[in-house]
Parts: sequence; structure tokens; C-alpha cells
Amino acid sequence: MESGDVAARLAQLNDRVAAACAAAGRASDEVRVLLASKTMDADAVRVALVADAAARAAGSRTAPVLLGENRVQELVSKAPVLADLAPEWHVIGPLQSNKVTAALRWASAVQSVADDALAQRLSGRVQGRDAPLDVWVQVNVSGEPTKHGAHPDDAVDLAARVAALPGLRLAGFMTVGARSDDERVVRAGYARLRAIRDAVVGGGAPGTRDAHGLSMGMSGDLEAAVAEGATVVRIGTAVFGARPAPAAPSA
Ligand SMILES: *Cc1c(COP(=O)(O)O)cnc(C)c1O
Repeated sequence: MESGDVAARLAQLNDRVAAACAAAGRASDEVRVLLASKTMDADAVRVALVADAAARAAGSRTAPVLLGENRVQELVSKAPVLADLAPEWHVIGPLQSNKVTAALRWASAVQSVADDALAQRLSGRVQGRDAPLDVWVQVNVSGEPTKHGAHPDDAVDLAARVAALPGLRLAGFMTVGARSDDERVVRAGYARLRAIRDAVVGGGAPGTRDAHGLSMGMSGDLEAAVAEGATVVRIGTAVFGARPAPAAPSA
């Protein structure tokens, strides 16, 4: 792919996000873009980061893009190469306990916390740091068995337990939406995540005050997610183009 393609696609994506925000009656700076860079090499990611910085230098009001990796192996191979640009990395795939230390070397947030065991391990590893680690509770709103995430009925209680752990800051909730052509089905799942967020923040349990984030929506359905309150949309193909086959399954 030509590097100009990535820059043009990023500009188109920003227009799409702005249009989705306008349609939903939201300000466009309420939604942050996270680039999901799985299977893309560091050069492609660099092109996107440079294009993003150039757009902001030219007066775009967007916040810097975040980067997300599903696999720790890809994170640890790309992050050092891109360290001069100081991007903010989030883990967005299932995190095995034996990979926590490697992931935390580069990631400032883990969006895929779906059980107590991972949360406790993260808490144990980050104690003594200056700043807390941002964690997001991943919820499987669609119920599709291939998808990672806590059951929606368990998510509120799980979030309260996670939020109470030392060294962690509960930043919000993440989901991978239903794989459906019916926009009502997709939106209902995103509305469910928002309701879980509202229940947790409204419940006022210790450590839940900052848990406003909603990481939901991808290249194919960001409009539905923005309409339901997404604060982060995770975008791969719309910026990087199609992933080489075999594509990693969505987490
Ligand atoms: C790949 C991936 C994305 C981006 O998907 P696209 O459809 O390429 O935009 C978002 N979130 C997660 C968890 C992913 O694995």
C-alpha cells in the first residue's frame, strides 16, 4: 500500500467520525480514534502516526490517535520501533498471564480485562508505579461464543471489584459488537454496554468515578457505536486497508 493511501484514509475516517458525531448530536472531540494495527508492520503504523501528527499540525481538532494491539508479540515487536513517536498503546486482545510483564512494558492501558484473575495480576504488577494503569472491562454484549468478554449480567459486579484493586484506574468498558447486518442488533449491544457503564458510574462504588469510557465500534459499524455513546472507536481496515489473509479473528 502507498503511504499516501493511509494518510487519505485517515482523513476520510476523521470525516466519518465527525459526521457520525454530528448525526448523533455530539461534539466531534468526544470520540477518540484507536488504530488497531494487528498484522500491519511498524512502517505502516508509522505512516499513520505521521499523517495524524501532520493533520493536527494543520489545525485538525482531533486528539492524537491511540494504538491498539491484540497480541503481545506484535506489541513488543512494533512498540520499540515506534518509540520515537511516543504513541499510547492499548492492549485490546485477551492477555495471558505469562505475557503481562511484557505487555506492561509498552501498554498504558489494558482494554480486555474480562475476569478477576487478570485484574488481580495486573494490580500486583503495577503496584509501586507512579501512575495507575488504565483498565477497561471487556463485555461480550453479543453473546457470540467466539468473543472474549465478561457476561453482561456479571459486568457490573466485576467492574466494581476491578475498580477497587490498588494500582488500577477503571477507565471504562470495551466490547466487540455483534457480527450482524441488522443495525438494530448491533446498536442494542452497544446500548447494553452503555447501560452497564451508567450502572457502574451511577452506583458510586470506590474507584468507578472515572469509568466513563466506552470503547466500541470498528471500521464497519462506527456510526452505530457513536450513536450509542462510544468515546473510543477501534479502527483497522478503514485506515490500513484489508489485512493479509489469514486475518486474525476478531477478539
Ligand atoms: C481488528 C480489531 C479492530 C478493528 O477492526 P476493523 O474491522 O479492521 O476496523 C477493533 N477491535 C479489535 C478488538 C480488533 O481485534
